Amino acid sequence: MSRFLLLFLLPCAAFAQPKPYAGRVLVAITAHADDFSIFAGGTIAKLVDEGYTGYLIRVTDDEKDGVLTAEENSLRNGREVVDAAKILGIKEVFSLNLKNDEIDPHSETELREKLILLFRQLKPYTIITFDPWAAYEENPDHLKTAKAVEDACWTAGVHLFHPEQLRAGLKPHYLVERYYWARGPHVVNKVVDISTTIDRKIAAVKAHGGMIRDPQVLVELREANKQLGELNKMPYAEMFHFIGLGDPNGYVLKNARPK
Ligand SMILES: [Zn+2]
Repeated sequence: MSRFLLLFLLPCAAFAQPKPYAGRVLVAITAHADDFSIFAGGTIAKLVDEGYTGYLIRVTDDEKDGVLTAEENSLRNGREVVDAAKILGIKEVFSLNLKNDEIDPHSETELREKLILLFRQLKPYTIITFDPWAAYEENPDHLKTAKAVEDACWTAGVHLFHPEQLRAGLKPHYLVERYYWARGPHVVNKVVDISTTIDRKIAAVKAHGGMIRDPQVLVELREANKQLGELNKMPYAEMFHFIGLGDPNGYVLKNARPK
């Protein structure tokens, strides 16, 4: 190696961000195009910064959120969710495009099947989505998405659910960690310092121009994350109910087997 190249590489190494989670996969599941960036954009960007490969599953077609026709809203929100995801470092967006606020013709089992397929394909270590146990959530898409994800988290690991996926080459997959956000009261046991990613979070939320039409929302969202940070002695924060199986090299994950 030439002395010149060494001199160039040394400063790069000195400032390179550590990637403690390299090799892990994060899957965010959002009912609507803007939920994931509003509730968890800072945490998603931070996990990607720390090495995760991020994916986003968007459940509905968002046809009713916007001032255009249903079809035009759906197209615009579908474009903008990809823009927002890119800002947060997410690699790919999968849109299931179920009808906004009218998921019902599709059963929970059907939605869960789609999630199981994607979980077996993407192999998430961590998922992040709505808390299925949060209080006073009245939005039907939020409720149904949360419940289907909760069920898919364990059924994806059981070989008797959708064996046709296994015959196609996929394997059962158990994920390890769940981050749940909520807009109503829920049990918070994890606060994430998002001071390094708050600007990207706000930029991602702003990218949903068809859904976030009032710029004051961005101001209020930044302030809400700041106030939450102050309560926890950090500049900006997001909060979650976190469920983890613990150390991946520990007893549970090494020894747990489906019946
Ligand atoms: Zn929503």
